[in-house]
Amino acid sequence: MTGVTDAPARPGRTLGALADLPVSVLRGVGERRAEALAEWGVETVLDLLTTYPRRYIDRSRQADLASLALGEEAVVLAEVRRAHVRRARNGRPIVELTVHDGTGGMQVVFFNQTWRAKQLPAGSQALFFGKLTHYRGTRQMANPVVDLVVGVDGPRAGSKTGRVVPVYPASAKAGLTSWEIGNWVAEALERAGPLADPLPADVADRLGLIARTEAMTAIHRPETMDDADRARQRLAFDELLRLQLALVARRRVLERDARAVRHAVSPLEVTGGRQGEATLVERFLSALPFELTEAQRRALAVVFADMAGPFPMHRLLQGDVGSGKTVVALGALLAAVQGGHQGALMVPTEVLAEQHAMVVRALTDGLDVPDPGRLGGRRPLVVSLLTNRTKAAERAGMREGLATGGVDLVVGTHALLTDDVEFASLGVAVIDEQHRFGVEQRAALREKGRGGDGDQGADPDLLVMTATPIPRTAAMVVFGDLDMAVLDELPPGRTPVTTVWARTDLEAVAAWERVRAEAEAGRRAYVVCPLVEGSDKIVARSATEELERLSAGVLAGLRLGLLHGQMPAAEKEAVMARFRAGEVQVLVATTVIEVGVDVPEASVMVVEDAGRFGIAQLHQLRGRVGRGADESWCYLLDEDTGDDAARRLGALEASTDGFELAEVDLTLRGQGTLLGSRQKGRSDLRLASIQQDRDLLVEARRVAEALTDGDPVLSAHPLLADELRLFLDEDDEKFLFKS
Ligand code: ADP
Ligand code: MG
Repeated sequence: MTGVTDAPARPGRTLGALADLPVSVLRGVGERRAEALAEWGVETVLDLLTTYPRRYIDRSRQADLASLALGEEAVVLAEVRRAHVRRARNGRPIVELTVHDGTGGMQVVFFNQTWRAKQLPAGSQALFFGKLTHYRGTRQMANPVVDLVVGVDGPRAGSKTGRVVPVYPASAKAGLTSWEIGNWVAEALERAGPLADPLPADVADRLGLIARTEAMTAIHRPETMDDADRARQRLAFDELLRLQLALVARRRVLERDARAVRHAVSPLEVTGGRQGEATLVERFLSALPFELTEAQRRALAVVFADMAGPFPMHRLLQGDVGSGKTVVALGALLAAVQGGHQGALMVPTEVLAEQHAMVVRALTDGLDVPDPGRLGGRRPLVVSLLTNRTKAAERAGMREGLATGGVDLVVGTHALLTDDVEFASLGVAVIDEQHRFGVEQRAALREKGRGGDGDQGADPDLLVMTATPIPRTAAMVVFGDLDMAVLDELPPGRTPVTTVWARTDLEAVAAWERVRAEAEAGRRAYVVCPLVEGSDKIVARSATEELERLSAGVLAGLRLGLLHGQMPAAEKEAVMARFRAGEVQVLVATTVIEVGVDVPEASVMVVEDAGRFGIAQLHQLRGRVGRGADESWCYLLDEDTGDDAARRLGALEASTDGFELAEVDLTLRGQGTLLGSRQKGRSDLRLASIQQDRDLLVEARRVAEALTDGDPVLSAHPLLADELRLFLDEDDEKFLFKS
């Protein structure tokens, strides 16, 4: 450390120092064990110390074999005296162990698990969870849950262990036992001595968090279960704080370096009470064919406040499918235009781009903007559509328009990001269905505002939209560098979609009958093809076959159309147009219809093999129906398998609320999938749980904000800054600390 600050240096080893020590420095770890540990992802002393116990056995609550009564369920720590395998009369192998815990003994039997004989040889010690039963005069546990505590190589007695025994996620594959890991950890703790504590003392005091050295010791060797809890709190807080610091600091650095456009717009243009001639935004809003929902008003007001403010907007708009995000997007785009800038709306697919361009043109019809070169000083608002399909000649004209300001709004796909697209003055960029884009693409679109060479111009305001809601606290982690706005209300007059999980053939028949009845009544239906693995070609072929099967079978006589990703864009557009017009009654489609497709007459959807889809995806798909005033249905076809898939389908059947479903999804899948492993900081969440540690997470956020306020690179907290470097990935690190 270069002592540039006056923060008092606190003694102790830093995590960085521990990360510099290979595990082989430990006396107990020789070359072979080091290799086994490495195979398991543990290379440094820090890795070892952050391999936390998976659970603890509170020996005060552990049963003695002598006092354990028949029929009781219990945890018993016992040593294996004898192990052997025999065959039952039907030929199946049975592993039989005789175990003892010093007070008494019992027999443990495993059926069809011959490997148990290897895992639990005579001399090993393990925890057995199970119910004590009686078999031919012998006390026994059958197929208990096992945690190996001492392998056969370890010392016999558990004399060193305290009242609370940590159980490590021992790796049978690498041949590591919980007991060995515990011993190495003990040596590491002893030799590491006191640890540096980067958390300001006042914060620790206020939150009632114990010191790091104490926490690291107690998480591994707690005296009581309460000790272990307090240790977990502190270490989980550290994880959350590091993550929030990274996110908040990133944000602060952006703000520090940003050159915002201060847009000529005000929240009063939505909430009312502004004096003077109607602005473009006001004219747009008052011409809408519907009243805005309260949620839309609130969202537009914060967006306008952001846009008028001194920092570029960096906001995420979450809103369930059908909540009306497009209007909010359009409001933002027009707010830029009314100050003489341009707006861009980027979407992930051509189908969606075409649809949005159509909607945008319809909703802005009749609006005009100043144009001194024209008679009367005004010209109509110009909206362009740019995709990879845009013809070369048209594209040239559009480029010209974008570069000179002749085009006000552009709707497009990734095509917007190509080098030859330049803007006269990009004031706001909106990204719809943001989960389909990467962070780089977000950044690339923002760069367009700087006029290509990264120097001139300003940073456009950025609004990203998603219809895949995630729980609020989870959002703080996943989108922690963005501000949030939520559309938590659907436009009035929607009838919630009735969802039916059709488990039997009979129920499936009812689904197809509904499709026929709705189609014959002039409405439309979607059939979502089974998910197939393989290339786009294979997916396309299977969709084609599905169409043939349906039109020759249950849907014979109806007018069916096909939509999949491999079709040429012109064909896609044509089939969508025919579907909108009702010439096609049933659209047989792959998940290309998942995002944003809006055909209000569609009143029924059948999802085949629904159990193979995830909750969020099914919710998105279902959002394609129920967009008009008609009653509508979604049929999920799949049998009841009783596993996770069944829980997903049950959840969909029970709720149409995206936020509620997001909670279920998080519970079923765990936070791992949500966070991904790309960012080191996120995979640093070993103890912290987004669901269980909500309060800690909110605190961590607050503390991160306070610490980086006016000090985005944490120069006043060098220990924390060092630690962040350790846990951040390279890009973030460069971004935060070298800029
Ligand atoms: P999403 O949030 O899924 O993108 P859209 O913006 O596509 O939703 O809106 C869904 C439908 O609801 C569209 O047909 C749109 O015109 C309509 N809509 C949006 N806002 C309102 C409102 N306030 N009142 C009535 N209909 C609305
Ligand atoms: Mg949408």
